[in-house]
Amino acid sequence: MLYDLIIIGGGPAGITAGIYAVRQKLNTLLITKSFGGQVARKAVAIENYPGFEAISGLELIQKFEKQLRKQKVDIERDLVVKIKKIGKKFIVFTESKQQFQSKAVIVASGADPRPLEVLGEKKFIGRGVSYCTVCDQALFGDKTVAVIGGGNAGFEAAIALANYAKKIYILEYAPKVGADQINQERVKKTGKVEVITNAALKQIKGNQFVNSIIYQDRKTKKNITFPLEGVFVEIGSIPATGFVKGLVDFNEKDEIKINPRNNQTKTPGLFAAGDVTEVKQKQIVIAAGEGAKAVLAAYDYLQKQK
Ligand SMILES: Cc1cc2nc3c(=O)[nH]c(=O)nc-3n(C[C@H](O)[C@H](O)[C@H](O)COP(=O)(O)OP(=O)(O)OC[C@H]3O[C@@H](n4cnc5c(N)ncnc54)[C@H](O)[C@@H]3O)c2cc1C
Repeated sequence: MLYDLIIIGGGPAGITAGIYAVRQKLNTLLITKSFGGQVARKAVAIENYPGFEAISGLELIQKFEKQLRKQKVDIERDLVVKIKKIGKKFIVFTESKQQFQSKAVIVASGADPRPLEVLGEKKFIGRGVSYCTVCDQALFGDKTVAVIGGGNAGFEAAIALANYAKKIYILEYAPKVGADQINQERVKKTGKVEVITNAALKQIKGNQFVNSIIYQDRKTKKNITFPLEGVFVEIGSIPATGFVKGLVDFNEKDEIKINPRNNQTKTPGLFAAGDVTEVKQKQIVIAAGEGAKAVLAAYDYLQKQK
């Protein structure tokens, strides 16, 4: 079967694209490895999505997904591993060895958490090392944990963890944290969080589970070990673009370059939207808007192909 449009991604950009595509009467397939994307990782309430004064990430994305599933759109839960363009047709290959064909594609695959790349990190994933505070915070009741990263995501993770953990350290590599003032005040109010700046994490240690970390104080160059049970990684994200190499150009951050007017990449018929692109602001409302824009541009492209 030849679809008009294949959308890759089940976050705000992909889901919005799906809803818009059906309204344009495009015969559409949405492929995603999971629903929710980064919104599902949000540890504290979302307070900047219009229509909701405060809503949990999980609840918001469930509402998105429910609306999508009411539409006439095919959905595949799978990981896209490659896209090829042969003539005017796109062929999309997935991890489970399926192939799908379409006349246009929208890449809305967002971003994955950036790994620390320190000793012990991979070994202890799921055994003390977490990339999703909202998923794992309840496992750390009365425990000591570290959050790596002093931006908003790190501070919000610490605020959420304060409902469970006994003591939380925020380790920031730079001399100053980057979190907004409001998050810094909220962290202070918990009375459980200590912020350590100039800290370069070196190693995560343990037996079966994490039992300590070693970091270097970048001022004194001394290595410091302290015992703890959990390490929450909040140092940003990397665009999920491995499957689209060769068909698009990237900027220095590995984000897909697009024409900002119509989300078109360098390959005709291949569009991109949301956090996977070079669009500067990485926000739910913006990703959703970009998803809508990309579909309307894909619709114009398909009309011209007729
Ligand atoms: C901790 C945290 C807190 C945040 N807080 C806020 C906030 O309060 N307000 C706000 O507006 N924004 C917030 N953001 C930013 C917001 O979540 C993102 O801007 C938004 O989710 C981007 O949407 P997206 O659809 O572009 O990508 P994503 O949300 O990353 O979704 C990408 C989707 O693509 C899928 N995917 C990836 N690769 C593949 C593949 N190869 N094959 C198939 N599917 C694939 C993923 O499973 C996922 O469903 C936060 C982000 C984080 C990490």
